[in-house]
Amino acid sequence: MRAARRLDLIPPYLFAELEKKRDALRSRGVDVIDLGIGDPDLPTPGHVVEALARAAADPSTHRYPSYQGDPSFRRAAARWFAGRFGVEPDPDTEVLGLIGSKEGLAHIIWAFVDPGDVVLVPNPGYPVYRVHTLLSGGEPYDLPLLRERGFLPDLDAVPADVARRAKLMFLNYPNNPTGAVADLDFFRQAVEFARRYDILICHDAAYTEVTFDGYVAPSILQVPGAREVAVEFHSLSKPFNMTGWRIGFAVGSAEALRALGRIKTNTDSGQFTAIQRAAAAALLETPEEWRRGMLETYRRRRDLMVDALRQAGLEVEAPRGSLYIWAPVPPGYTSAAFAEAVLEKTGVVIPPGTGYGSYGEGYFRISLTAPDDRLAEAARRLRTLEVAERR
Ligand SMILES: *Cc1c(COP(=O)(O)O)cnc(C)c1O
Repeated sequence: MRAARRLDLIPPYLFAELEKKRDALRSRGVDVIDLGIGDPDLPTPGHVVEALARAAADPSTHRYPSYQGDPSFRRAAARWFAGRFGVEPDPDTEVLGLIGSKEGLAHIIWAFVDPGDVVLVPNPGYPVYRVHTLLSGGEPYDLPLLRERGFLPDLDAVPADVARRAKLMFLNYPNNPTGAVADLDFFRQAVEFARRYDILICHDAAYTEVTFDGYVAPSILQVPGAREVAVEFHSLSKPFNMTGWRIGFAVGSAEALRALGRIKTNTDSGQFTAIQRAAAAALLETPEEWRRGMLETYRRRRDLMVDALRQAGLEVEAPRGSLYIWAPVPPGYTSAAFAEAVLEKTGVVIPPGTGYGSYGEGYFRISLTAPDDRLAEAARRLRTLEVAERR
């Protein structure tokens, strides 16, 4: 049996080697702490679980769900969005339910990219943008995210002939993996660029609700005219500890959502209506106090880890958003060599920056989604790490 050649286009899974080493250490009895995955360890709020139980007991939820997303979920998403960002989307044409935002981020590429079309993708970045561009026959064009530019892409550096061939541009702020944030002024430039070259901006907004130190993340749809050239992908996963529930939504350009909807109606049949009703409860009924508690937990973990890394002699900045610390490796190391050294010396798994793209070389990422005591133990071990320059 020969799988499709397009599968050969998917870049090798860079974490595979690290996972093998992790499992080998574990089998030797080493107490390995995995700070690789960004997957909240804390539970979904109780009122959301209760809303699911109530909805699941209602037989009307047992049939095929609505293709566009249950009207109650789309209305809740629109209301939440309007309250949060001051921009009111039409729940019937400018909101589309998703089976997790990853699903929408992948399918929007199939809705817009023909073979040979360019897609502008941040590097380092969430791998879905690049992988589905390759699968669809498109050409990913790197937008390097560099520290000296605050990990924002330099849109003026994109050659005009490339921009003219581009159909989509992916952005993601607060950013995974760099933890960088973008202000409205950057989004304004991005919208202007998209208008000039007729590009659809796909803004992955998975972390707008995970921010610290009083920082409030904007939506790209707050830029006047953005809803004609942009779609924003929101996810319940990170803000409500709901990664396992697979629920999110897209907001923005009605034309883009119609195209995405055509792919989806022919691919999936929507998310379980009971989950959509529970998600509406998460968006509209989660007490501010719960949210504050969640953010305080991550803030505390962030500070603990930043402090430990600084004590180990690493130059680390505390992120204002996302669940990640993105830190430069010490001089003399590649990302892969440093990740390996840390694993061998401390038993802590940290993914090398190159797992997120070639411009991730020289960095590693730490996820804050491990339980408090495990994170504290990892911090204790990292503090003692000697990161003297490699001979
Ligand atoms: C976690 C994550 C998502 C995926 O969210 P789901 O809604 O769970 O699919 C999307 N983008 C980025 C950058 C993420 O880190």
